[in-house]
Amino acid sequence: MKVAAVIVDVPTRQTDRPFDYLIPKKWENVLQVGMRVTVPFGPRLLQGFVIEIKTHSEFKTLKPIQEIVDVTPVLNEELLGLGKWLTETTLCFMISAFQAMLPAAMKAKYEKEIHLVSPEHRACLHTDIQPFFAHRSIIPWKDIENTNMLPLLQKEIQKGHLEVVYRVKEKGTKKTMKHVALALSAEEAKEMMTKLPTQAAKQKEIIACLLSCPEGMLLKDLLELTGASSSSVKALLNKGVIVEQEVEIYRDPYEHREFVKTKPLPLTEEQQRAIEPILESVRTNKHEVFLMYGVTGSGKTEVYMQAIDEVLKQGKEAIVLVPEISLTPQMVERFKGRFGSQVAVLHSGLSIGEKYDEWRKIHRKEVKLVVGARSAIFAPFENIGMIIIDEEHEASYKQEENPRYHARDVAIYRARFHQCPVVLGSATPSLESFARAQKGVYRLLTLKKRMNEKGLPSVEVVDMREELRSGNRSMFSRILFDKLKDRLARGEQSVLFLNRRGYSTFVMCRDCGYVINCPHCDISLTYHRVQQRLKCHYCGYEEPIAYRCPSCQSEHIRFFGTGTQKVEEELAKLLPEARVIRMDVDTTSRKGAHEQLLHEFGAGNADILLGTQMIAKGLDFPKVTLVGVLAADTMLRLPDFRASEKTFQLLTQVSGRAGRHELPGEVVIQTYTPEHYSVELAAKHDYEMFYQREMRIRKLHGYPPFYYLALITVSHPELTKAVAITEKIAAHLRNHLSSETIILGPVASPIARLNDRYRYQCMIKYKREPKFTQALKTIVDHYQQEVAQGQLQITIDLNPYMMM
Ligand code: ADP
Ligand code: ZN
Ligand code: ZN
Repeated sequence: MKVAAVIVDVPTRQTDRPFDYLIPKKWENVLQVGMRVTVPFGPRLLQGFVIEIKTHSEFKTLKPIQEIVDVTPVLNEELLGLGKWLTETTLCFMISAFQAMLPAAMKAKYEKEIHLVSPEHRACLHTDIQPFFAHRSIIPWKDIENTNMLPLLQKEIQKGHLEVVYRVKEKGTKKTMKHVALALSAEEAKEMMTKLPTQAAKQKEIIACLLSCPEGMLLKDLLELTGASSSSVKALLNKGVIVEQEVEIYRDPYEHREFVKTKPLPLTEEQQRAIEPILESVRTNKHEVFLMYGVTGSGKTEVYMQAIDEVLKQGKEAIVLVPEISLTPQMVERFKGRFGSQVAVLHSGLSIGEKYDEWRKIHRKEVKLVVGARSAIFAPFENIGMIIIDEEHEASYKQEENPRYHARDVAIYRARFHQCPVVLGSATPSLESFARAQKGVYRLLTLKKRMNEKGLPSVEVVDMREELRSGNRSMFSRILFDKLKDRLARGEQSVLFLNRRGYSTFVMCRDCGYVINCPHCDISLTYHRVQQRLKCHYCGYEEPIAYRCPSCQSEHIRFFGTGTQKVEEELAKLLPEARVIRMDVDTTSRKGAHEQLLHEFGAGNADILLGTQMIAKGLDFPKVTLVGVLAADTMLRLPDFRASEKTFQLLTQVSGRAGRHELPGEVVIQTYTPEHYSVELAAKHDYEMFYQREMRIRKLHGYPPFYYLALITVSHPELTKAVAITEKIAAHLRNHLSSETIILGPVASPIARLNDRYRYQCMIKYKREPKFTQALKTIVDHYQQEVAQGQLQITIDLNPYMMM
């Protein structure tokens, strides 16, 4: 008897454990750990992951597995182990951890097919399998499912001849094209040519063409090369001279792009010193975490690429994580230019099908390197030689839904498993990482010099309160405005940055001070000029714009705050001759728009690039000599202990956009709090001083990296319930945790109501708390029924990045 332990797809507390199922005889030699199966569960059929195969079960009557979903494992042993680790460290359900590692396409509704990977494999197939593929290269799964072919099929898949493909029910999933090849041997084909009548000249030409190309070619190419019509092809098909089949074409989002091949540059002394220890770690298979602290433009990316070279030389694979917003065409171009078709790119701009294609390239081992955003950390490589996390301080590496993992932690877990280095890179490392480097937990590598030897741009901080006092009511200070005019006159380019995070265009009555809020959330509505509507950015509620104050009926109801559209209008008034490109969520929602706008700017078709966060990173344009930050301190007001750190990082990043090449750069930062140390020190490019100041504050208030944090948020439609439950949770923790641990709350969350649910929270600061996860599990268990009924929600975020 063989038994499979299965984690079923029901994300609840009661079902968060393996269930035993009998493996039917016919699948005993087929089923492996890491495959998905369909199993009966109560009255339903559910999907699940096999995590163990055993020879007996403590339960007497077992139901049999209904169907096997995968023919080869989709999660290998390492990833299964990682899944278990994720459940322990983030307190998520097993099923959520496993699903997080797979592309979304594999969760969607699909039909399964078996594909011949390439026509030349047809002849290599086992003779029992061959008949299935005699005239086709794709067969439906059901044709083979109930035969005894599965073990053979598995072998062919392992050899790379066949592949199981999930045809997702979305439009344009898998792209195929007609492919033709000779069905005869070369001799037979030549003989055929002599037999064909003279008027069949085109048919002869087709045969000649295919003789010169034994593996066959795409039908469209053949027609183009020979000028033949499809009727000639048809005639040859009917005679059995050639065969036609559908072959898969990967939807390559970069297919129409030419990438200029680049070669490794001779490294500078500083770069050489930084790369040596990394190469050493790669060569000796030694796990180590490096923090590469290097100012923008100091050549970090070049170091990454040359370290990857070494990894590939060793026959291993590499993962490069970059934040979604810096996964710009420029970044992709650099990696594609250096590593060509060995690279898979994973980012949120791809459709579900495209992501699945990239994932399969990795799974099939057709690529050696993946460059992608957060979830690329789960790339199913089996021989990882290095993991790089660029801009390691970015908050987007933390996932804000279950499993609430941080990509840095996952990277270190995987690198330890594979005994390889992790390289964290940043010009403004997170306090946590820099502190670890100071303690020697990470190894610090420093790049101090900018490549162009120009030094960092000069930064001027402008006090906007002063501007107002001297009668300037515009959103541009006089200095910034003069400099903009000056660049325009000289034909140089400027970048204007508007930080929208924590800042929105809200509507307020000038007479009574009434602010229009969302009726479901405790948050003001945002004004959308184009649609003339007010929208809630948290729950999606919207209403038409008001012309009278709902409270006092005054007509003096106005829009406050500054949006990119408003800046654009102001620019049109003040500098009508300037050509402006605006980049924000509204102008870049269309696929490819982001790339196109940047291309326009790079080609010199505009004088000013105006945008939000998305232009803060990774852009490199030689003619940009001025960067203006319109409101530097909007983020400082957020209820978040990282507010200063985020402000410092953002200002540093934005300043790095100027003067990257021949022309010297200037930066103007407008602010209402010029005396704040994060503004002041960003202007001086002094990360180390910032680190010292901020560490003192973190220590004083008991925040990371001195303490670990956990945030428990309770939400309920009834206020009294939300409060009472949070109180009980806090009391339970106080009873079960050590006396050094600090438990704050319950208090109302900064957003006290969201989607008609009241939100209360409790923050825990701790240093060492071995019983913590157990205590949290007890709490979750205690409330599981109420949670299952849907009224109550409890979120536990260990190491939170969102404090709202
Ligand atoms: P970072 O990633 O630290 O911002 P980059 O790797 O983008 O820095 O390097 C900045 C610029 O310097 C790029 O244009 C890059 O091509 C160039 N560069 C990097 N290393 C070298 C080198 N060793 N020699 C010459 N140019 C280099
Ligand atoms: Zn709302
Ligand atoms: Zn009013």
